[in-house]
Amino acid sequence: MDNTCLFCRIVAGEIPATVVHRTETTLAFRDIDPKAPTHVLVIPVEHYADVAVLAEANPSAAADLLAAAAAVAEAEGLTGDGFRVIFNTGRNGGQEVFHVHAHVVGGAPLGPMLAGK
Ligand code: 5GP
Ligand code: ZN
Repeated sequence: MDNTCLFCRIVAGEIPATVVHRTETTLAFRDIDPKAPTHVLVIPVEHYADVAVLAEANPSAAADLLAAAAAVAEAEGLTGDGFRVIFNTGRNGGQEVFHVHAHVVGGAPLGPMLAGK
């Protein structure tokens, strides 16, 4: 665990979060500032900085993360109308928290894939 990492502290229970799904290797909780009617963050319980680091270092944990994102979409009732899974990565990707997380968003049409496009 990285004591300076916000999401490691959520995993440790030091910072409260609304947890919606949990497996041995993943945790999913509602985003504090939702950008869509449903906005859940899915993370590996182990610390990896971003999706590229995760995929390189632990492909099995990466697979678990995707499976958990799909399970969250199903549990949140998003699979019928569709949803989006987003990994913001690095500076240009707009990543703010450097513990890899999948944003699972849906519940309304989400508009263009990128701002203005
Ligand atoms: P990023 O920009 O790194 O892809 O996304 C970070 C996300 O974490 C943002 O959507 C932000 O709203 C969310 N977030 C930041 N701090 C907290 C927090 O303390 N609790 C929860 N549940 N979400 C947070
Ligand atoms: Zn962390």
